Amino acid sequence: MRIVGHKKQWNFLRESFQKGRLTHAYLFTGPESIGKKRVAIEFAKLILCENSGDQPCNECQECYQIENLLHPDFLLIEPDHSVSRKISIEEIRLLKEKLSVTSSGKYKIAVVDNAHRLTQEAQSALLKLLEEPQGRKIIILVSEFPEVILSTIRSRTQLVHFHLVGEEEIESVLKSVSLTKKEKEILMLIGKGRPGVIYQYLNNKDLLKENEKFLEDLLELKKSPLFKRFQYAKTLKDSEKKEKVLSVWLAFLRKTLLEGSLNSNSLWNTQHLIKLIKLLENIIHLFSTTNINQRLALEIFFLEL
Ligand SMILES: [Zn+2]
Repeated sequence: MRIVGHKKQWNFLRESFQKGRLTHAYLFTGPESIGKKRVAIEFAKLILCENSGDQPCNECQECYQIENLLHPDFLLIEPDHSVSRKISIEEIRLLKEKLSVTSSGKYKIAVVDNAHRLTQEAQSALLKLLEEPQGRKIIILVSEFPEVILSTIRSRTQLVHFHLVGEEEIESVLKSVSLTKKEKEILMLIGKGRPGVIYQYLNNKDLLKENEKFLEDLLELKKSPLFKRFQYAKTLKDSEKKEKVLSVWLAFLRKTLLEGSLNSNSLWNTQHLIKLIKLLENIIHLFSTTNINQRLALEIFFLEL
């Protein structure tokens, strides 16, 4: 899979490698699903590739093994599948073990995706690891909420900030696949600036239908009495898909706000939309970073809807 956008960030990383200026720890930040993890994986390939030029070759054994998470010198850590989706201290112990095995002088690289989900314990262990002498080891932390990560960890990393990807680049991805007009519209809506979302949906077309359903739910709830909305809050709280549902709603409300001046039949006026968008943004942030009472938070949103 190629990187969509992020040319400036890629050039910075590539040059730091080519000029022998790699650092031991990086922190990739920026919005969700824009390709930060993808860049981290491609960067690992670039460093370990047998035929490395300005890009990894994607043909050698090193590239193949990294892409398929089989490489002995590469580790990808992600949150577990529990409801709280944490990264526990055991994962950091594993990382330490993996990076400490001495080999042929090659780099060892670990990527920690969604690093804001590291538990306090795990963060302390990671900090200790970063304080030790490093050798040829690189840890890349990836997070959309870096403020949740210990400042003592952050200060030991090279920060690389990523931004939403431009519309032209998203369109070029969509051009290369066959989709109905309706599917394209939904993808442009939910994938705005976020190639990760686009790829996720292209790999699973059923997800597109699911999204249509989430949007129908929102419009239905708008017309529903409060007890129905609260029932929905109760069900949604326990759903694995709650964060996805909320982000689809957020994308839809933002689009409605942008198009507001063109469409006088909107279900919400501008002030109301701005209020709902801010509320949803807060809820999504709190769901990811705290133990907030989720049902209550959803009920507050439905009260305002
Ligand atoms: Zn290669």
